[in-house]
Amino acid sequence: MDNFIQDIINEDLKSGRFDRVHTRFPPEPNGYLHIGHAKAICIDFGIAAANNGLCNLRFDDTNPTKEDTEYVESIKEDIKWLGFDWEDRLYYASDYFEQLYEYAEQLIKMGKAYVCDLSADEIREYRGTLTEPGKESPYRNRPVEENLDLFRRMRAGEFPDGSRVLRAKIDMASPNLNMRDPVIYRILRATHHRTGDKWCIYPMYDFAHPLSDSIEGITHSLCTLEFEDHRPLYDWFLETLNVKCKTRQIEFARLNMTYTLTSKRKLLELVKGGYVRGWDDPRMPTISGMRRRGYTPEAIRNFCNIIGVAKSNSVVDFSLLEHCVREDLNAKAPRLMAVLRPLRVVIDNYPEDLVEEFEVENNPENPEMGTRKVPFSKYIYIEQDDFMEDPPKKYFRLAPGREVRLKNAYFIKCESVIKDADGNIVELHCTYDPETRGGNAPDGRKVKGTIHWVSEKHAINAEVRLYDLLFSAPNPSEVEEGHDFKENLNPNSLEILKNCKLEPNFAHAVPGSRYQFLRLGYFCVDPDSTEEMPVFNRIATLKDTWAKIAAKSE
Ligand code: ATP
Ligand code: MG
Repeated sequence: MDNFIQDIINEDLKSGRFDRVHTRFPPEPNGYLHIGHAKAICIDFGIAAANNGLCNLRFDDTNPTKEDTEYVESIKEDIKWLGFDWEDRLYYASDYFEQLYEYAEQLIKMGKAYVCDLSADEIREYRGTLTEPGKESPYRNRPVEENLDLFRRMRAGEFPDGSRVLRAKIDMASPNLNMRDPVIYRILRATHHRTGDKWCIYPMYDFAHPLSDSIEGITHSLCTLEFEDHRPLYDWFLETLNVKCKTRQIEFARLNMTYTLTSKRKLLELVKGGYVRGWDDPRMPTISGMRRRGYTPEAIRNFCNIIGVAKSNSVVDFSLLEHCVREDLNAKAPRLMAVLRPLRVVIDNYPEDLVEEFEVENNPENPEMGTRKVPFSKYIYIEQDDFMEDPPKKYFRLAPGREVRLKNAYFIKCESVIKDADGNIVELHCTYDPETRGGNAPDGRKVKGTIHWVSEKHAINAEVRLYDLLFSAPNPSEVEEGHDFKENLNPNSLEILKNCKLEPNFAHAVPGSRYQFLRLGYFCVDPDSTEEMPVFNRIATLKDTWAKIAAKSE
């Protein structure tokens, strides 16, 4: 690893500030993980691995009103799936509630914390602004004994929610607002997903986080840039309490991606409002959504490596992520034939009951994937848009009187078109040239188009779900006053095709397996599949817009 975080770690190891590297990934279990978390996971676990160190998983569960065990379970599953392992180091900030409480009493006894009776609004008012110093709370100079007594009674449940808080006594005139006597404990009667009703006071993030890091012996606490201004407070707690392990906090830039949201709150809104099918809807930027869609952990990890670790915020193009997915699947996914919008073709001069089998490579990029047999017969399906009755100039596929190659099979020529009463094309009649078996004509005659096909009587029926971007605006959360980010949802982000025809080699495809549908894109078997009706999600089309962007900038 070669980045500014590693540089800082190298200095710390050289100076002797630390003789080991221990990081943590600290999700709050208030939603599912998304692509931004994947970046943080790759950095936290990656930096530890690169330094022969360890990385903990710690649930940052200090806000009982928004947290849930469903989220805990999904987060564990997602991290494992991404390929990372916390081994036996699974922790919860709530494991430390007793110890954190002791730390708070210690601060009180040192004269470094006090119980404040101002309301939340008053605290905000007293806090001042960036240009104006704050005002001291009238409760700031309560004697230690009184603070201790009140704090213990807060814990004992003697006071109503929100009536009092414990605050650190730092500096109301500090240019850093985080240092203006921040709240470190609040009264909140809420059932915690792990500690139940044991507590009615809960520590604030800024207090719990540095101390949890220190308790676990974390050397480097890697977090996103918005915590930079909190670092003096982070250090203040560790210094003032003079804890043994003085963890160093290092901030890196969040991942932002075009056409994508990385706000758990907004993603939750999409789930709750039914705008998507759930957290694992294949259009969601969540890890579970990307998994269901068919993205591979290797592709996501590779994406995180490519975007790297920087100190300044930027926006990554969504097409880079898709590019990484295609690159990974290009060599891995077997290439089979599937027809999404079938048009029936009768090959008039082909024997009625004959079935031929063509031996075909599973992936020309990867000969090790072997070959398979694909049956051919008199009645086949081709894509509706591989035929045009009145083709424009550059259209090289099938048209009346025109000859094309059926992939791996024969040349066929369109002789006539059958329409229904409304004028819709329902069937083509073609002839084939037996001399062109395997795809070439012995007389050297050329065809300009090659199309895929599926034999009618061997076909497997399937449902295919085509996904497009969930949002149609590059920055979905950017909206004008009075508007909502949901207005940026792409109304065409999902198209369901229920009459797709697959070659028989798709039989028994298990959920999660990935294929390239020849000429169409990459697809993954969805867990909604049944034996009668397999369901496929389109992972990505074959068009790599990132490669185009990259080529242009060269
Ligand atoms: P919340 O607003 O609920 O705190 P969060 O996105 O910060 O949302 P956390 O569960 O606190 O969620 O995040 C866990 C870790 O992942 C934190 O260290 C956080 O900095 C990091 N993280 C969150 N979002 C991103 C992102 N978009 N890019 C990189 N890292 C992220
Ligand atoms: Mg957070």
